[in-house]
Amino acid sequence: MTSDDTGATTTHCPYCSLQCGMKVAPGRRGAITVQSWEEFPVNAGALCRKGWTAGGLDRRERLTQPLVRDRRTGALRAADWDEALDLVAGRIRALQAAHGADAVAVFGGGGLTNEKAYQLGKFARVALGTSQIDYNGRWCMSSAASASNQAFGIDRGLPFPLVDIEQADTVVLVGSNLAETMPPAARHLDRLREAGGRLVVVDPRRTPTAERADLHLQPVPGTDLALALGVLHLLDARGLVDEEYVARRTTGWEDVRRSATSWWPERVERVTGIHTAELDALVDVLAADRVVVLTARGAEQHAQGTATVLGWINVALALGMPGTEHAGYGCLTGQGNGQGGREHGQKADQLPGYRMIDDPDARAHVARVWGVAPETLPGRGRSAYELLDALGQDDGPRALLVFGSNIVVSAPRAGHVTGRLEALDLLVVCDLVMSETAALADVVLPVTQWAEETGTMTNLEGRVVLRQQATAPPAGVRSDLEVVAALAERLDAPVAFGTEPEEVFAELGRASAGGRADYSGIDYDAIRERGGVFWPCPEGSEGTPRMFAERFPTATGRARFLPVEHGGPAEPTDATYPLHLTTGRVLAQYQSGAQTRRVRDLPDTGPFVEVHPLLARRLSVRDGDDVRIATRRGELVAPARVVTTIRPDTAFVPFHWIGANRLTNDALDPSSRMPEFKVCAASVEAAEGVAP
Ligand code: SF4
Repeated sequence: MTSDDTGATTTHCPYCSLQCGMKVAPGRRGAITVQSWEEFPVNAGALCRKGWTAGGLDRRERLTQPLVRDRRTGALRAADWDEALDLVAGRIRALQAAHGADAVAVFGGGGLTNEKAYQLGKFARVALGTSQIDYNGRWCMSSAASASNQAFGIDRGLPFPLVDIEQADTVVLVGSNLAETMPPAARHLDRLREAGGRLVVVDPRRTPTAERADLHLQPVPGTDLALALGVLHLLDARGLVDEEYVARRTTGWEDVRRSATSWWPERVERVTGIHTAELDALVDVLAADRVVVLTARGAEQHAQGTATVLGWINVALALGMPGTEHAGYGCLTGQGNGQGGREHGQKADQLPGYRMIDDPDARAHVARVWGVAPETLPGRGRSAYELLDALGQDDGPRALLVFGSNIVVSAPRAGHVTGRLEALDLLVVCDLVMSETAALADVVLPVTQWAEETGTMTNLEGRVVLRQQATAPPAGVRSDLEVVAALAERLDAPVAFGTEPEEVFAELGRASAGGRADYSGIDYDAIRERGGVFWPCPEGSEGTPRMFAERFPTATGRARFLPVEHGGPAEPTDATYPLHLTTGRVLAQYQSGAQTRRVRDLPDTGPFVEVHPLLARRLSVRDGDDVRIATRRGELVAPARVVTTIRPDTAFVPFHWIGANRLTNDALDPSSRMPEFKVCAASVEAAEGVAP
């Protein structure tokens, strides 16, 4: 542990991708207290409610002993570590002997440290020899990742520090509720407006972020791409395209220009519900020197998520913004390590350093670092949802090892996915609490969390930060790195797996060297000294806070315009399901709520269904009445919240509690394989007297 004079240790919040810096000090009776760390540049001491209460996870909820399911009683019982690990290794061996290496799958998380994400990828490919590994970050921002790779040749959420947006003239947020999901970041929006800049928010709900906007556009869910095409059409028609930038720094403009010609304002209004005057107003504020376009889950979690993001990237490129100071395009990552988690090998198609697993040079480089032959590395596996959908099927995995993910709550079409988990021969879950997924497991392994361990995270800016251990873990728990190493040893892996985070990070750096996400010049000391280090950071470099000033990392050095066409939601509304359902977050909870629902000082309201007063009147529903919301996949009974801030044709359900994702659609984006969490067809009716 590294502490200051007061005994406090600098570390980072356990939750979202802002990765706010904080100090953690020992409190009374083994508790810890969270304090401001004002010197850390990203949040300058500010934290949201979740950050301030991060030390308040009820200790009685912690798992401190391995649990194995008793074959006779069917219940979980306590076991010691050797028994649990021997059991897992023995059953893995038996399943792989009977069904092949791919009979065992690994499912990681976007909240795991870089070291854990890296080690999980290596464990799957080297110790298990399986191609079947993916993670829940596939559901977070993989559409933006796919779009950025196609357009810019690289995927770093923000290619500039977040503070840059304060000096823009206009910031357009598409599908982001920054003020509620990461409140300390919202001060940048306030400063932007204080300096005379304008904020545009595109969101079907008038969120706290939209309340701050100069212009709020409330499109029909699933039509953000049509809006982007309409904007592009008008930019071109009004002569606002930066032709000099387009000619000098991009390719493909003429095809994109043609693709937008048919998106005249009246057509856009018909599809999106955005009035032509609002569209005009948006284009007016885009006629500025420095425009930042930011997308988030609202734009990305669609069966057309990649195309939607590309549509907004096309807008940013037409305006001549990417690579320009205080301007550009960026994606706001959600999960704590959503960025780093997808760079170092826990994705089905990737090796560390954002290398592709089917690239022979990438395989040779990583195999050399790992000390194995390249031909022993398996190929590309299934993406997250496809992996879960295949569990227990004839050609699918028979065992699943889960690290840092609560699939039962967070997977789309969650009722179906729960059935697939139940069909497994072996489900192993590493977690700190008895999550809904752990409760289904054959073996539960208790692991350390956040302030009890050291490791790096990569925040939404591509800044690699260091979480430092601030307190001792409860007796009986082990780190995920220790669990992976112990299993690898029992499986006779051809190489050893380190358990010291700093050593694992150094190995990660070597494996990433020369890759798109090059971390080889970063070490723990550099992170401590500089308040984080931005990748790419090849050996000898100081890191790269701002990208694209000179060139884009594509073969031509130019960004690519890519034509896209609006197709609309995978599941249109109809007479039976006449409403749009959209899902999202609330301030006091984080992701599946496995941690935040167990923090005493955070309100645990349970799920609710937000509806507009016009819809409520039609359904004879008052605020607080139970309603039944149904889709083709399931239903949920929860209290109605009657609010004027939502479209009358749309219902909203937060996804932190079991139930919301029983409703959501598993239609996948063809490129990113991201599910369409953000829109599906639904019906709502009064459900008086029915318990949720
Ligand atoms: Fe910061 Fe996000 Fe943690 Fe809130 S949840 S304190 S915004 S890192």
